[in-house]
Amino acid sequence: MAEENIKEQSLSEKVKDITSLHTSPFPKEGIALITKAYAFAENAHKDHKRYSGEPYIVHLHETAKNLARLGMGARTISAGLLHDVIEDTAVSEAEIRNEFGDEILGLIEGVTKLGTLKYRGLKRHTESLRKLFVAMSKDLRVLIIKLADRLHNMQTLVHVPQHKQRRIAEETLEIFAPIAYRLGMRALNRELEDLAFPYVYPKEHADIKKLLKQKSKETEVHLEKNLRSLRKALAKEGVRNTHISYRVKGLYSTYKKWLRKNKDIDQVFDISAIRIVVPTVHDCYHVLGIIHGLWRPMPGRIKDYIAFPKPNGYKSLHTTIFTGDGSIIEVQIRTEEMDRDAEYGIASHFIYKEGESGNETSNFVRLMQLLSYRTWFSKDSGTSKATSAQQPGVATPLWVQQLAEAQADITEPQEFLDNLRADFFQHRVFVFTPAGDVVDLPVDSSSIDFAYAIHSDIGNHISGAKVNGKLVSLDTKLHNGDVVEIQTKQSSKPSSKWIDFCKTGVAKRKIQSALQMQEQKE
Ligand code: MN
Repeated sequence: MAEENIKEQSLSEKVKDITSLHTSPFPKEGIALITKAYAFAENAHKDHKRYSGEPYIVHLHETAKNLARLGMGARTISAGLLHDVIEDTAVSEAEIRNEFGDEILGLIEGVTKLGTLKYRGLKRHTESLRKLFVAMSKDLRVLIIKLADRLHNMQTLVHVPQHKQRRIAEETLEIFAPIAYRLGMRALNRELEDLAFPYVYPKEHADIKKLLKQKSKETEVHLEKNLRSLRKALAKEGVRNTHISYRVKGLYSTYKKWLRKNKDIDQVFDISAIRIVVPTVHDCYHVLGIIHGLWRPMPGRIKDYIAFPKPNGYKSLHTTIFTGDGSIIEVQIRTEEMDRDAEYGIASHFIYKEGESGNETSNFVRLMQLLSYRTWFSKDSGTSKATSAQQPGVATPLWVQQLAEAQADITEPQEFLDNLRADFFQHRVFVFTPAGDVVDLPVDSSSIDFAYAIHSDIGNHISGAKVNGKLVSLDTKLHNGDVVEIQTKQSSKPSSKWIDFCKTGVAKRKIQSALQMQEQKE
């Protein structure tokens, strides 16, 4: 169907199909840039087809539409149209630089580089791989393009050969959906999870779908009546300009919650929720009071994510109520800004900003604040335990604050950006095992740190190390992207010198206890 549409349309109609999804009209130069990128991509990929048999441009067209829907600017959308040219066509980097400039080339190269990382199904290294995706992206727009690309790939996964489907779906579930979640992009997170779910867990998917079907029938019967009394109460209390909607939880997140609740679907209270969007924060608390006056709240289920936002920046009031007719409903109350942030997250901060000179800098600071160092580098960042909700708003890391303050002294936004990025990414290096698994280590780590990160038995018997195929001394510092191979010998033992070559506490501790053991033996 998409193919038919695209064939019949003129170039300007195709571009309009994309740009009309954006919430604000594009300036003329923006439209011109997207049109140029469209024509360029269509020509470069003219001989390519997707697994579905559709012309390749359909994929690029849909990726660009996803980016426009997220509110991204003309340069990001253009890079989205061009994201596969380097990898899949004969077009050179120089040609792209000539036609579209360094910024767009940088975005395309970033997406191409990310394409080389693959999830190989080793859960132990999943967290490192997620971090690596982010570290390698540098410019967060690269990550957003990659997510928009992945969304369309998942929507068309049915056409991909079966033996590849599962790996792609697992990668989506383990890497891309969690990244979308941590960037606060809940709508995208939900879509990616629900598209991948049936490929990774076919039976569970069918079970949950059936359970939900029964459950939602029960709820909907009462819902209209409850919404009517809610509207009446809000009007009576003088709360105006509210927008009330009804949302159903994603299948995959319902499945995960159902598992946590010992497979009792009646214990999953937020399958369906009423969402109330109001003009101000004051209105949020006012509406919460009105609702608790109308229905009895369930104890322990009132959550103030406005005073205590989640680590990914999510803000809202939540309460769960007994409606009196036997149903239990979750209610979410938030302002329009919080609602936009909750659905689009990081992306919503790019809206309207791209293209206004100098603004990228303040954007980037905002993004870094939102991301928060802790979201990525704390040990428990992979889990969404209640602790995150109970803790007060995540503090902006000191270095981000300092850099934001120092911004006034720096005349060149580019210089500032470079400093900020360097600082953000200088904390960790990401290296590979010969099998391609990712291990992340503190900067200045050596092969010894690497060996102990894999297994203490390997650490305790290092006889040599190869980095990128070459033998190196054990104190050699590792760099991003290095492939490290540890050679072991049963007779090799740690020496006290090694402690000086290490950066990680794990390695130092293990070496020390191995040395003590040796002493005792002697
Ligand atoms: Mn693609």
